[in-house]
Amino acid sequence: MKKVKYLFLSVLFVSAGMFAQEQDQEKPERKPGHTNNNKFKQLYDEFSTPNMFRTASGAPGPAYYQQQADYKMDINLDDKNAKISGFETITYTNNSPDQLKYLWVQLDQNMRAKDSQTPLIQGSGVAPAQQLGSFTSSYMSDGFDGGFKIEAVTDTNGKALPHMINRTMMRVELPKPIKTGEKFSFSIKWWYNINDYVNMGGRSGYEYFPKDGNRNYIIAQFYPRMAVYNDVEGWQNSQFWGRDEFALPFGNFEVNITVPADHILDATGQLTNRKDVFSSEMMKRYEKAKKSYDKPVMIVTQKEAEKAEKGFSNDTKTWKFYAENVRDFGFASSRKYIWDMMAVKIGDKDVMAVSMYPKEGNPLWEEWSTYAVASTLKSYSRMTFDYPYHKAISVHAKQQGMEYPMICFNYGRPDENGKYSDRIKYGMISVIIHEVGHNFFPMIVNSDERQWTWMDEGLNTFVQYVAEQDFGKWYPAALSEGDETYPSRRGPAAKIVPYMGGDQDYIAPIMTKGLNTYQFGNNAYGKPGTALNILRETVMGPELFDYAFREYAQRWMFKHPTPEDFFRTMEDASAFDLDWFWRGWFYTTDYVDIGVKEVKKYYVSSEPNEEVKEMVKKRGMKMSDLPPLVYMVEEGSDEFKESMKKGTLLEKSPTLKEYVMDNFTAEERKNLKEPNYFYNVTFEKPGGLVMPIIVEYTYADGTSKTEKYPAQIWRLNDKEVSKAVASDKEIVKITVDPNLETADVDTSNNSWPKEAQQSKFDEFKNGVKN
Ligand SMILES: [Zn+2]
Repeated sequence: MKKVKYLFLSVLFVSAGMFAQEQDQEKPERKPGHTNNNKFKQLYDEFSTPNMFRTASGAPGPAYYQQQADYKMDINLDDKNAKISGFETITYTNNSPDQLKYLWVQLDQNMRAKDSQTPLIQGSGVAPAQQLGSFTSSYMSDGFDGGFKIEAVTDTNGKALPHMINRTMMRVELPKPIKTGEKFSFSIKWWYNINDYVNMGGRSGYEYFPKDGNRNYIIAQFYPRMAVYNDVEGWQNSQFWGRDEFALPFGNFEVNITVPADHILDATGQLTNRKDVFSSEMMKRYEKAKKSYDKPVMIVTQKEAEKAEKGFSNDTKTWKFYAENVRDFGFASSRKYIWDMMAVKIGDKDVMAVSMYPKEGNPLWEEWSTYAVASTLKSYSRMTFDYPYHKAISVHAKQQGMEYPMICFNYGRPDENGKYSDRIKYGMISVIIHEVGHNFFPMIVNSDERQWTWMDEGLNTFVQYVAEQDFGKWYPAALSEGDETYPSRRGPAAKIVPYMGGDQDYIAPIMTKGLNTYQFGNNAYGKPGTALNILRETVMGPELFDYAFREYAQRWMFKHPTPEDFFRTMEDASAFDLDWFWRGWFYTTDYVDIGVKEVKKYYVSSEPNEEVKEMVKKRGMKMSDLPPLVYMVEEGSDEFKESMKKGTLLEKSPTLKEYVMDNFTAEERKNLKEPNYFYNVTFEKPGGLVMPIIVEYTYADGTSKTEKYPAQIWRLNDKEVSKAVASDKEIVKITVDPNLETADVDTSNNSWPKEAQQSKFDEFKNGVKN
């Protein structure tokens, strides 16, 4: 008997506070084989075990290593035949604790070889419409032969090295295994036919301009590149199918590129023979550009570029570059280029923001490209680390959006009359911000793109949003009439709702290899970018988030992070347990749907309510067994009506008043609050994701207050939770997620009282009535 009474009282007072209810569970539901899928379970099973290479804090460990690949290359661009050839010497340094018997080299151009497997894995059947070039190459010819022709693989003495090509990967046998700390140098002689990327697709290639007979070459993945060897994957020799991007080690590049003498060219790295390739006029303009911080200086004007288009020189010029600590090398070359530059202060250093574009890009490109580059470098440097390279180039390239160290290729072209829509303008600015931003992720924070698309695209899309908002603030003249801020396409929570609330059969978790995901853009860019924005704005707050995000970027700049390194660092630097967030947003396809299910109003009373009387009776107790209590009476009951009439809190409950008089001094009593309204607010969660509940309470006097209940509110009940809310003013409206910041997929349950939302059926019915 005593025990029962004790239990009863503890339920009443301790476990659920004033609104405790008896839970009669005579027959608990038992599910055979039910597994623990608690959403707050720590991520131990999913994570790799921390070790000497990568610590539990998310930082590189004491045994962390990375391989180095240095390149010396002589490249020749044959404009007449649209061919490129090269001779390269790679010096590979084995910093791993392992002996290596062979090396893996990536031959990405083999994706376009005649025997490529890429077309064979497309399972979508006949397309309703196809581009002309792609149609002729699919059905009317043997197809374009764009694969690498590997002419020789030799050691430094010219002796052939045994090698084997498996599609886009080449294994090079070493004369003897290389041990820790040893270097091995070898050379590859190669050439390939450059693809017309506008008609055949691809991340690089050329665009042909039939009006003047010129090509715009944007050249990348053009040389056999070392694969990554590390503690996580061993050799990352997963084939290039065309979708998942690249995994590359850092190194130093010495590259000489020979092109027609009338071409303008820029590339990754320092131009080391500027005096040989610049006219004296260009040199003068360049010196001026280095001191121009507020507007770009033309190095090659449109008039000069239009003149050069007609030249077709038979002479050649060699442009020489040296790049230190980069993971890749790209360049762009054409007679058609207009070229402008300006300086931008990053920390205590000057960086050159550069744009290169044919006249077809104007007037849009001369107006905004270089400003977008400069603005991006500032925003990203603030969010991560000071941009460490000496320049960033934006090259105009139809239909492209592709990034390499210091150089990127971007779309955005006005029509033939130089007219452009807002969509084209914002599209151009956004793609420039995005691709220049990739210098940070993955060019410097060098994640494995082949395996984890979201690690560069998702993080980059998140910072892109921040940078776009900065750009709108810093260059309001770039905004169209009626836009007060930059109209970002991705970032704000509401924009990911159609995807996350869509058909679950066509959604994969973010932690899926890019090649195997549906809706690539939403999966690898939109959702992780938005998740991080929500994490920053709504879950952690910018101060905690930004510190941790910067810590991640700085820990892993010029290194190779994994997803766990990111997840762990964000927690390590913020004291914020985010396992539930990573689990829900990155490992599942759950969505957010939180609503307010029911609101009950109470007053206090000294008179026992029916509920308590019944519980006492059920347990065979008497009311006199109970200590003095404050009773809550629900709206609608007789007791409620009685209580309503009685004025203040203490007037309603003499028992409480007596307690207050006995236990508080007159001074203390002055500071006591006296709420008069009590609510039991029940929140429901039809969605799978756990998220903080953001609630706006609106009072009868028109004022309102916003409360944020942390996500952990869902830890013991995933379906619904109730909050006791006390107030001295009457609540007239309750809104969940009033500013649409959680990506809630169904807002029809977000307010109380239910907002009048006419259903299609009601509309129909009312229509008939009228
Ligand atoms: Zn990207």
